[in-house]
Amino acid sequence: MAIVTGGNGGIGLGMAAGLARAGAAVLIAGRNAGKNAAAVGQLQALGAKTAAVEADVTEQPACLRLVSAALDKFGRLDILVNNAGINVRKQPQELTLQDWNSVLDTNLTSAFVCSQAAFPAMVKAGGGKIINIGSMLSIFGVAFAAAYGASKGGMVQLTKSLAAAWAKDNIQVNAVLPGWIDTELTRAARREVAGLHERVLARTPAGRWGDPADFGGIAVFLASAASDFVTGTAIPVDGGYASQG
Ligand code: NDP
Repeated sequence: MAIVTGGNGGIGLGMAAGLARAGAAVLIAGRNAGKNAAAVGQLQALGAKTAAVEADVTEQPACLRLVSAALDKFGRLDILVNNAGINVRKQPQELTLQDWNSVLDTNLTSAFVCSQAAFPAMVKAGGGKIINIGSMLSIFGVAFAAAYGASKGGMVQLTKSLAAAWAKDNIQVNAVLPGWIDTELTRAARREVAGLHERVLARTPAGRWGDPADFGGIAVFLASAASDFVTGTAIPVDGGYASQG
């Protein structure tokens, strides 16, 4: 049974659909009730047992409620995908402290809080899998994403620490680093950042933007026994973007 934060759209829904196709029950969490309901419909159409919780993962009680809902509805928790994320695109000198905090709270602190909330249930289940969503900005810096880059760099280090701490509990913790993927998050950037679309195509050896469906396979691998000796890693799913200088 899997929880996917931000599972109502984009990469999170791509991962939720991959897990659903592989037979997992999936609980998705997002703030927008309409998007939640539409995603539940899509996952049910794949034959999955699924439900949604309206939750803002920047609030600790919401993360605790999410884990309780998984246990109430499905009786166990095996997989947590910490995927919810936002960006505030500004030069560093223009970022307010509120911008900084909202990005760090959404992208990084929520992953710590949800993982901590999930830990007792995973121990009870005899083990578990945590998948944290990083970014190319876990590796590279860009001028318009100081807070986002800090959150995504932190996500990789959080992944390593959780992996080291919880391996003895049979919990594997890994990060996935998406390249440039066509989602709501990047559609605005593509409109507003001149030349971005062309730069991404030129820099990505696969010659295309990624699609949320590209994330079903890695989710299934990192959530299944196939990855039981894989922990603390950060795996790019980027069409080769990070491999090209
Ligand atoms: P989307 O904007 O399509 O999806 C973001 C998801 O996060 C939505 O489901 C949204 O749901 C949810 N979300 C945002 N804030 C909160 C919150 N406070 N509480 C609960 N849910 C929240 O973006 P992507 O699919 O592109 O992004 C998913 C992840 O992938 C993010 O972590 C992003 O940083 C990362 N990523 C994306 C890349 C890309 O190119 N697209 C590249 C690298 C990383 P709702 O609005 O209903 O709350």
